[in-house]
Amino acid sequence: MKLTRLRLLGFKSFVEPTDFVIEPGLTGVVGPNGCGKSNLVEALRWVMGENSHRNLRAAEMEDVIFGGSGSRPARNMAEVVLTVENRDRTAPAVFNDVDTLEISRRIERERGSNYRINSREVRARDVQLIFADASTGARSPAMVRQGQIAELIAAKPQARRRILEEAAGISGLHSRRHEAELRLKAAEQNLERLEDVLAQIE
Ligand code: ATP
Repeated sequence: MKLTRLRLLGFKSFVEPTDFVIEPGLTGVVGPNGCGKSNLVEALRWVMGENSHRNLRAAEMEDVIFGGSGSRPARNMAEVVLTVENRDRTAPAVFNDVDTLEISRRIERERGSNYRINSREVRARDVQLIFADASTGARSPAMVRQGQIAELIAAKPQARRRILEEAAGISGLHSRRHEAELRLKAAEQNLERLEDVLAQIE
């Protein structure tokens, strides 16, 4: 699964529509301090389903929307679209009929955010699972933010284990097991309720 393009609109300092094309080979982003290099990586993590505003250096999630500058008013909406090549069919099997996935996340002030895959509305969980299975998610060790190495050195063993699991590509399985356990619990509760009803009828 290859990330080929990131499109930003109103995300942090990217007030103008901006296309970031990721060509084959090594891609470097250079620029002066404060020009938005980290914002670019945060846009990538955000569209992959990052749900902690703190991990995006924001006091609340709405702060990822362009907040205005001396010459421009604030925006009310931000959108990031990530294009992912799926020719190797590494996305979940439901996407086996498509070569390209267009994953988008949009946030509006006071209305929260929503996700789409190829224009179809989906849950945050669906987007997170795509990347968890491919070990490239919002919390993936493949994306190293400033200060993260120091945090890693000081991390507790459980936190380091999570990083190893992500690198081994099994964190998606953990999420699925958790979902399956929740469904099983709900089914058990329904069964208990059914037994109560049956006992009352008898
Ligand atoms: P450095 O090289 O110092 O790490 P950088 O290129 O990584 O810098 P960023 O940290 O990505 O730069 O960008 C910081 C800039 O983004 C600041 O000028 C900040 O004002 C701007 N910024 C962040 N959030 C918003 C927002 N919601 N609206 C408008 N501008 C924002």
